[in-house]
Amino acid sequence: MKQVVYSTVKLKPELRRMIEDYAEVYEVGEGGAPDLSRVTVLLCGPVTGQDLDAMKNLRFIQCVYAGVDSLPWSHIREDVTVASNVGSNADAVAEHAFALLLAAAKRITFFDQRVRGGNFEVVGESKMLHGRRICILGLGAIGTRVAEIAKAFKMHVVGYGRSLRSGAVVDEFYPPERIDEALKGCDYAVIALPLTKHTRGLITYERLCLMKRDGILVNVGRAPIVVKEDLVRFLKENPSFIFANDVWWNIRSPSEDSDVYSLPNTLSTPWVAGAASSRETYEEMLRQAVENVVRYLKGEKPLNIVRHEDYR
Ligand code: NDP
Repeated sequence: MKQVVYSTVKLKPELRRMIEDYAEVYEVGEGGAPDLSRVTVLLCGPVTGQDLDAMKNLRFIQCVYAGVDSLPWSHIREDVTVASNVGSNADAVAEHAFALLLAAAKRITFFDQRVRGGNFEVVGESKMLHGRRICILGLGAIGTRVAEIAKAFKMHVVGYGRSLRSGAVVDEFYPPERIDEALKGCDYAVIALPLTKHTRGLITYERLCLMKRDGILVNVGRAPIVVKEDLVRFLKENPSFIFANDVWWNIRSPSEDSDVYSLPNTLSTPWVAGAASSRETYEEMLRQAVENVVRYLKGEKPLNIVRHEDYR
């Protein structure tokens, strides 16, 4: 069958040409709307369930983003192969996770605001990273990079995940059923997990209580992995604990998450760890996504195939 690729994101001419060697290509916003019933491969950012329903011949979905949780899964047939784009922005996200951790531990924004007002008074205590226990939840592309950086700070690295990649630098590793042991006594934790039916609501009040009361939790994964009401309660009860966050529960209207970001013991960025504030990172994500589409079109096995059962 003739392969027809539809991209819901704009492609640079050189990326488009890579696909055109193997298939007809349509891009969002060009000419009239394509005949969706002819589409066999979808390269997407956002896509509606209605459009997916119209793609009767769809065989392969390549997501531009690392996370595929926002795809309209109930409109994706079981026989459609879905690939995420994990790893394409792992360096950027790991750097951001560590920036949040360091900024929180060393109280950078707190002091910066005071110094701008001419206040050079030294108050309170900063936190050390050296020798401290950090739990990395999700030891994939981002998590293993965070682990490497943590090791450079001579931290004790506790990994938590479904599998331990060869070469991952951790001092301890815990599988999903042992999450409480992984978090127990940790000074710091970084969430770098995908949002799936298994990870939604994973971090509860009881699990937050397993960490040190003056700890730091960084979230660069997805917000609903943390139970928001439990987090707010925990942060109010433990003013020395800091939540350093890039991802939000109310994606379309993050200001509705003010119950979290208005607390004094939070440090926040507006979902920028991945591509949102870096053209270089976004272009690398597009390049890797297109390379995976080409892999599929050449009859090779695409990378990063996700398990449907994680999302249904
Ligand atoms: P990877 O797939 O490389 O890593 C995810 C890791 O989590 C894998 O090791 C995976 O194990 C593990 N995992 C999956 N499900 C579970 C589970 N139920 N219990 C324990 N471990 C589990 O993805 P990335 O590291 O590239 O990205 C991770 C997530 O980060 C993305 O899914 C996305 O949600 C988020 N992200 C956020 C960004 C931002 O802008 N803030 C940007 C990019 C990503 P296994 O391999 O065995 O399945």
